[in-house]
Amino acid sequence: MTESKAESMTESEIARAFAECGALLNGHFLLTSGLHSDRYFEKFQVLQYPHLTDRLGAELAARLKRRLGFAPASATIRTVVGPATGGILLSHVVARHLGTGTRSLFTEREEGKMVFRRGFRLEPGEPVVVVEDVVTTGGSVNEVLSAVRSAGGQVAAIGLLVDRSGGRATAAWEDIPVEALLRLDIAAWPPGECPLCRQGLPLTERGSRHLR
Ligand SMILES: [Zn+2]
Repeated sequence: MTESKAESMTESEIARAFAECGALLNGHFLLTSGLHSDRYFEKFQVLQYPHLTDRLGAELAARLKRRLGFAPASATIRTVVGPATGGILLSHVVARHLGTGTRSLFTEREEGKMVFRRGFRLEPGEPVVVVEDVVTTGGSVNEVLSAVRSAGGQVAAIGLLVDRSGGRATAAWEDIPVEALLRLDIAAWPPGECPLCRQGLPLTERGSRHLR
């Protein structure tokens, strides 16, 4: 398999791709946190299209390569890790575009704790790229970082499709290079302060049902 020759995508092309597949929704949503928001990101609207996921994964892999400064022919990152469920698909495409021989692993919950199962192993000090589809609070990425370190690996970079935290989540990873294809600052309010409630707009519970 050869390295990806995908053309790079601009910020507006990426935003348009997310909007056109129906991932970025406008409305009045109840989030898992209990907050209300006027925008909601449904990641599986992206991930349901393999060609779109592949294109975005290629772009993310290209940016990670530039960021980490390794030539395609001598890729130093041999392992990509994402959290189940969406992170499995993203890890797979990013690993494919990082180069032949790159592994795609995933973490999953065992008794509530994010761990490697399925016989996945890391070499001591092995550099790993951690990927995630959407970051809201950064909680699940933090759990993957812990799982990688517990397994003996070293986190070389973090790659995200969407950082919807307005940069607040990624600021916590200041010592790790972070690449995000799209950065959004999505407003959210407590129900009592929600301007959309005041306007009488019907509330969609999509977020609370799909984000669990
Ligand atoms: Zn509201």
